[in-house]
Amino acid sequence: FDQLADTDPDIAGVVLDELARLRGGLQLIASENLTSPAVLAALGSTLSNKYAEGYPGRRYYGGCQVVDRAEEIGIARAKELFGAEHANLQPHSGASANFAVYAALLTPGDTVLAMSLPHGGHLTHGSKVNFSGKWFDVVAYGVREDTELIDYDQVRDLARQHRPKMIICGATAYPRLIDFAAFRSIADEVGSWLMVDAAHFIGLVAGGAIPSPVPYADVVSFTTHKVLRGPRGGMILAREELAGRIDKAVFPFSQGGPLMHAVAAKAVALREAATPAYAQYARQVVANAQVLAEGLAAEGIRPVAGGTDTHLALLDLRELGVSGRDAEARCDAAGITLNKNAIPYDPQPPAISSGIRVGTPAVTTQGMGEGEMKEIAALIARAVRDPAAAADIAAGVATLVERYPAYPR
Ligand code: PLP
Repeated sequence: FDQLADTDPDIAGVVLDELARLRGGLQLIASENLTSPAVLAALGSTLSNKYAEGYPGRRYYGGCQVVDRAEEIGIARAKELFGAEHANLQPHSGASANFAVYAALLTPGDTVLAMSLPHGGHLTHGSKVNFSGKWFDVVAYGVREDTELIDYDQVRDLARQHRPKMIICGATAYPRLIDFAAFRSIADEVGSWLMVDAAHFIGLVAGGAIPSPVPYADVVSFTTHKVLRGPRGGMILAREELAGRIDKAVFPFSQGGPLMHAVAAKAVALREAATPAYAQYARQVVANAQVLAEGLAAEGIRPVAGGTDTHLALLDLRELGVSGRDAEARCDAAGITLNKNAIPYDPQPPAISSGIRVGTPAVTTQGMGEGEMKEIAALIARAVRDPAAAADIAAGVATLVERYPAYPR
């Protein structure tokens, strides 16, 4: 860091300010986490220099014998940890991983059945502003209005009607477990591929805290930077028979040289995720999310779908008469970082929305447990209700994060 400060005080200042921001507040964005110093060390290594187009042992550049080892180790760890037949660690991001899966299994114009964005799906699951919605014929399923759970009857009916080439499950704002066996049976009935976008919850799968999609899916794509606590990036697991198609769709179809420092950092995260300490972490993430959701419910803030089985909860603020946008801003002013989020059947437009989403990956990494989640629920509820109390709440937040510092000195 001293070298960065000497060479570029501007960017060194940004790095320090961001560290101070992380340390100074509560990070409750469900898709974020605090990676370990070991992962950061691999990311900041000389592996960033190397061009390594291709795959281990089959590169288009010389001098890859050393970086090959990082990718081989990472692939072996991913296969072992997830019980997968094939793993590709090269996608630069979750969106790049999903792009490659579409490219491997579909041709433009094919029909895809995926979860609707306003009900919790991701942009790459068929949004009109994304390649998926522009180049594919996407039919959307959603959650039931009464239970706010995925409507499997609707999924089956739509699959029978539209005969999609691929069905996608996995979401960005769905707090409950997904029934992968049900999706498999629907995909089998209509002869479609089953892709599970496990970006949000793959870390919980790695830690054994929730069931794995791997035995059911043809392909599992995910990001490595959420609960999994790795570097920013993507990964794809697949059945052996699809290995060649997936690898070619990543390189050379949609990417050039892999980010070997990121590949190495993914390998480090996979090693960390295979430990008993990480399994304990994953269970605690879920327990914390459940206590946080219960605490918010006790404050009159309704958890969508009745609560959570995962690392995140979606909260309906309509009883309080505060929009998601205002709640996000009020929490931000009090040192609590979370995001506004549409709730299913939201009467408000997405930019305003009626909900917020909270997640426990980062605060659990900091060592917080159920007791702290009760405190956080009370802080959030007060921040949302009473913007005038922001300074007082921020003082409460500061005491809490001093007890459980991010990146302790
Ligand atoms: N898929 C899902 C379900 C996600 O939640 C996200 C990101 O939040 C992505 C894909 C995209 O990941 P990235 O932002 O790395 O492109």
